[in-house]
Amino acid sequence: GVRIAGARAVVTGAASGIGRAVAERLRAEGAAVVGLDLRADPETVAVDVRDEGSVRAGFAEAVSRLGGAPTILVQSAGVFPVRPLDEVSVAEWRDTFDVNVLGTMLCARTAVGLARAAGHGLSIVNLSSIAAESSDWEEPCAAYAATKAGVGALTRAMAGEWAPYGVRVNAVAPGMIDTPMLRVMDDPAAGAETIRSSVPLARLGRAEEIASVVCFLASEGASYVTGTTVTADGGYRIR
Ligand code: NAD
Repeated sequence: GVRIAGARAVVTGAASGIGRAVAERLRAEGAAVVGLDLRADPETVAVDVRDEGSVRAGFAEAVSRLGGAPTILVQSAGVFPVRPLDEVSVAEWRDTFDVNVLGTMLCARTAVGLARAAGHGLSIVNLSSIAAESSDWEEPCAAYAATKAGVGALTRAMAGEWAPYGVRVNAVAPGMIDTPMLRVMDDPAAGAETIRSSVPLARLGRAEEIASVVCFLASEGASYVTGTTVTADGGYRIR
């Protein structure tokens, strides 16, 4: 089973926002954690999740720092371009899919290969978004929404394909969370009023509030949960 204390965890996107909060929370609960991000620091290895060679090298380094194959993988690396559909370039559309969907698949299959070779299971938690299902999102982000719907489908497909190997795969769909990613939105002050009127809990979420849901899904407490996306949005979807 995948417990938090004693777990070996890899967290993508660990240099910022939700990924950073997840890495901190997993460490506080007794896991060994290595981050993978474009930006390296002492606890984070430089990896571009779009590039399979970079992903493989990053996981090799993570295994050596963790002292074994990962038992938890949290995938928080992502990009959030805001642009109307008639202005999205083909290059930007493709890049959004490369980071958010291809990157999620490449890291997952690399981690699963390592866990299988080591003879143990793995719990994967992907980051989706309420944008995957919401058609009246505050900002035009169709490419992002399509990638996050893709993350939901990929989560279910991976859960089915890898269940025989003791691999659970779930996702968390956050609402609006106060991280650097949200700063691409137009007008933060007007945004605050929008949030009070559109989020039943009347505030942005904190990265730590997403980390706690991620850690539950990663843990033994969710041992019978796989293929599911858990929404954590302050009630945005039910308003
Ligand atoms: P963030 O921008 O603060 O952090 C994202 C991290 O991903 C950054 O450190 C960045 O360097 C890294 N990254 C980007 N491209 C990468 C690449 N090619 N290879 C490796 N690392 C890369 O964003 P966040 O708010 O912490 O978001 C984390 C995840 O949660 C994302 O998948 C995002 O789509 C999702 N999410 C966020 C919100 C929100 O409101 N903040 C809402 C819903 C979903």
